[in-house]
Amino acid sequence: MAEAEACPLCSGARDKKPLKEWRSYRWWDCAECGIAFVTPFKNPGAAFYAQYADLYPHEAQEAPDAMSFEYGECLSSFAGREVSALRLLDVGCGAGGFLNQARKRGFQVWGLDFDEGRLKLVREKLGIPSVHQGSLPDFAAGHPEERFDALTMFQVIEHLDRPADWLAAALRLLSPGGRLFIGTPNRDRTFDPFQGPGMEEVDNPPNHLTRWRAQSLKRFVESSGFAVVELKALGVPLPLYALMLRNTLRFGLAARALKVDQIQHAAPASASTPGMRAVLVQAAVKLKELLINSLAFLSYPLFRLACPLFGWQGAVLYCVAEPKAQTAGH
Ligand SMILES: [Zn+2]
Repeated sequence: MAEAEACPLCSGARDKKPLKEWRSYRWWDCAECGIAFVTPFKNPGAAFYAQYADLYPHEAQEAPDAMSFEYGECLSSFAGREVSALRLLDVGCGAGGFLNQARKRGFQVWGLDFDEGRLKLVREKLGIPSVHQGSLPDFAAGHPEERFDALTMFQVIEHLDRPADWLAAALRLLSPGGRLFIGTPNRDRTFDPFQGPGMEEVDNPPNHLTRWRAQSLKRFVESSGFAVVELKALGVPLPLYALMLRNTLRFGLAARALKVDQIQHAAPASASTPGMRAVLVQAAVKLKELLINSLAFLSYPLFRLACPLFGWQGAVLYCVAEPKAQTAGH
């Protein structure tokens, strides 16, 4: 049998039937630890990530990603602290969106990523020299003396085919009192950002190999030698909320405008040209965009209040953990 018989994370027996098929892959549910995983369970390697331009920018990131809530969440946990002596390693740093922000906050920053092209941008455009190519286990083996006070893995764990090795490496690299920060898509999210043309690719193999619930992440992090300090689903950021609203409120404006135009054509008194029609459609689409953005901005505070009331879960799980030994003594 080429396919794994058990869950690659907890070794629990998987269900007899797959959840669904995705091209040549299959998604399986683990009733034991609550993750979904794919077979074949294999990370596609560096060349695969180099092709993604939209999701993982190919330009040096001066600003953080608009969609990302984890960055602010992580940095605000250091509020009021002097961090200039603290060393932060961002695993999966990409074009440096978080690295740049953490450096501005005062951290000494290091980065790690599969894609050498983006690391070059981080070195040359952002002027951050301490970025390395490769996996976290390889980095830990190659830098046995390095220690970090914060190790961030945002949107990384769901890509890995050896996540236990990566957490073992993270454990070795953290200094006493150091903390691990993980962000990953929430399998139990109420609102799904991975919808629409092209987006389905994002949350499927070979890009994503696992999908995590809060309890699966807790179980896995704790079985890897960490104690969980904080674990929650983060809220839906405003840009994502606006996108959701846009997808929900499909007025069919363009189609309606064309219909109006056809009626006008039928009446001989007011014949309009195809040029007029295009202008009308364009104006309607622009107006819709403006209306939805305004509506999103105005209703966002209400939406945020409603989330806990209705038990709506955010799209991102956020977990903070520290090495078990250091909490055991207290
Ligand atoms: Zn499992």
